[in-house]
Formats: sequence, C-alpha cells, structure tokens
Amino acid sequence: MSNISVPEPKSVGLILSYRCTAECTHCMFACGPEWEEDLISYERLEGTLAELSKYIVPGPNGPDSIGLNHGLHLTGGEPFLHYDKLLEATKLADDIGIPSIFVETNSFWCGDEETTVAKLQELRRAGLNGIMISVNPFYLEYVPFENTRRAVNAGREIFGQDAIVYQSEYLREFERMGVEGTLDLNDYIDRQGGDLERNVEFFLSGRAPYVVPEYDISGLTARSPEWWFDRPCRPPFLREWHNHVDNYGNYIPGYCGGLTFGRIENMDGMLSEGIDRDDFPILSLLVEDDFDGLYDLSREYGYREAVPGYYSKCHLCLDLRRHLYDRGNFAELKPDEFYRQLPDG
Ligand code: SF4
Ligand code: SF4
Repeated sequence: MSNISVPEPKSVGLILSYRCTAECTHCMFACGPEWEEDLISYERLEGTLAELSKYIVPGPNGPDSIGLNHGLHLTGGEPFLHYDKLLEATKLADDIGIPSIFVETNSFWCGDEETTVAKLQELRRAGLNGIMISVNPFYLEYVPFENTRRAVNAGREIFGQDAIVYQSEYLREFERMGVEGTLDLNDYIDRQGGDLERNVEFFLSGRAPYVVPEYDISGLTARSPEWWFDRPCRPPFLREWHNHVDNYGNYIPGYCGGLTFGRIENMDGMLSEGIDRDDFPILSLLVEDDFDGLYDLSREYGYREAVPGYYSKCHLCLDLRRHLYDRGNFAELKPDEFYRQLPDG
C-alpha cells in the first residue's frame, strides 16, 4: 500500500507553548494554566522557521498583509504569556523572509492602553504584519471585555485592516449587552435561551466534548459510534491551510490536537516520500476516513463504547485515541501532555 501523503504547510500556526491563562471550554488543544511551560527553544524556533519558510504562502493582499488561512501565525496557548519569546519569534520569522506574520491572542495582557499600544508597536517594528483578536463567549469567561476592547482599538490603530476580530459579531453583541468584566458561560447560555451552538463556531473537539455536559446547551445530542462513521471531518483533516507546528517539533494536521504527522525537521522527507502506514496505523485509518477500522482497533485494545455516546465525530476520534494512547505506543499520538491534560471522560 502507498505511503500517506502529507499536505504542504502553506499556512501554519506555530505553538510557542500550550500554556494559557484561560481554560476555554472550546479549546481544541486543551490548553490551560496546568500545562508545563516547555517554551520553544531558540534552536527549535530557528530550525522550524527555516523549514516553514520553504512552504508558507502570503495572504491574498501580499506578504505585508495577513489572512486567517495564509502566512504564519504565532500562537499557543497564549503567546503573550511569553512576550520575549513572541518578539524573538517575530524577528526571526521576519529576518528569514516568512510572509504574512500575525499573532493570535485572548487579550488577557491588555490591562492598560499604554502597555497594549507599546507592545503592539514593538512587535510591528520587529516585523509583525497583523493581529487576530479572539472574541466569543468562551474567552469572555476568562478575559475582561475591557481588555478585548483595548486590544481591538490598539490593534486597529497599529495594523489597520490587518487587525482581525474573530468573531466580530461577538464584539458587537457584547457591546450591545453592555458587558463589563467577565461573564460566566452558563449566564451567557441562559441569556441565549440555551441556543449556544447556533451562534458559535463550535467544533466540539479537544476539551469541549468532555465538559459540555456541564452546560445546559440545547440541541446537543450524543450519538452512537456508527452514526459518526460516515460523516466527514469538519473542516477536512488533510489540507494545506491552517495546520500547526508545536513547541515539541510536531507537525499537526489542522486543529487535531494530540495528533502528529511527524517531526518538523523531517518535513522535506515527509513531503517527498510520504509517511509509512505501518509506522502510523492510527493516522493511516484517519487518512482513509476509516472510523469503523479505528473503532475496531480500539476494541482490540479493550475499548468500550462511551455512555451516553458522542457529541461529534471529533469526540469519537479523541475518545478512541486517548484509549489507545493509554495502552499502546503510537508515534502519531503526540504530544504526551495533551492526553494528560484532557478532562476525565
Ligand atoms: S482557546 Fe485560546 S485562550 Fe482559550 S484556552 Fe485555548 S489557547 Fe487559551
Ligand atoms: S475527527 Fe479526528 S481527524 Fe477528524 S477533524 Fe476531528 S480530531 Fe481531526
């Protein structure tokens, strides 16, 4: 059988560390304050950026401008927790000629206007082309809305149209609601009459499937494994845009926390020869979208169907993988800490 073809990393998020100030319900990488810092080293940063520079493509408006699924975004975890590393990464990426560099943030650090503006100006001088400010009810549990507003204002002043608010409907909604400080997710859901899913882009992967039962969200239904077998990954699992590389050197497909195609330093070989299916049996099944097969493999390792079922295909995928992680030695199930940080099933 042929090797697995690996997608080129045309747009990548570089995870400087998985540690975060927040512990958002929807976090696909299950980031939070309990993670080891394990900040990316200078050597790994240099090597990773050199590899990525061969493949990353600029945003639609050129290398000095950004697009969500173009260029390089510096992320985490929360990258501003390690401001000096963020600055170092920006300078290195710019020096090496990587186009369309932006940072993604939850705005926790924007406690006053002067600091917010000064840091963004410094980053801009270092070569940052833009910023993506995360806004939705999951962040609002942890980050005072005043900080978000400050980040948006400073971001727009310094980066103009390259300050992206994701998602801007929430910025407008929280303004309309007159939110001050933080807002408990349960309170927000109550105000929406339980209708969370309709409004939020919510993939129910990473931490989410294990914590959503704590909330009174209407429309969430747990299904049998078979119900999910033939449903496609959303967005597609194999794609060239918005993949990730982490601080441990893992090349991660899309938003699939806890999975890797292999080591970033082997990128050229991965792309030219593909990866051997025998070395990556789980990845091989996922590439084939053979969830039936993944389920059978997990059953061979003693897996029992979860009760009451699965809220999403990613939930099923993750539950099977975490079971296999605990019982086998699978090179594609990385980083180890991801599986340790998942909430109990
Ligand atoms: S979604 Fe972002 S802000 Fe929230 S826990 Fe994950 S990395 Fe942190
Ligand atoms: S089902 Fe698995 S492989 Fe597919 S997108 Fe979700 S986590 Fe990734």
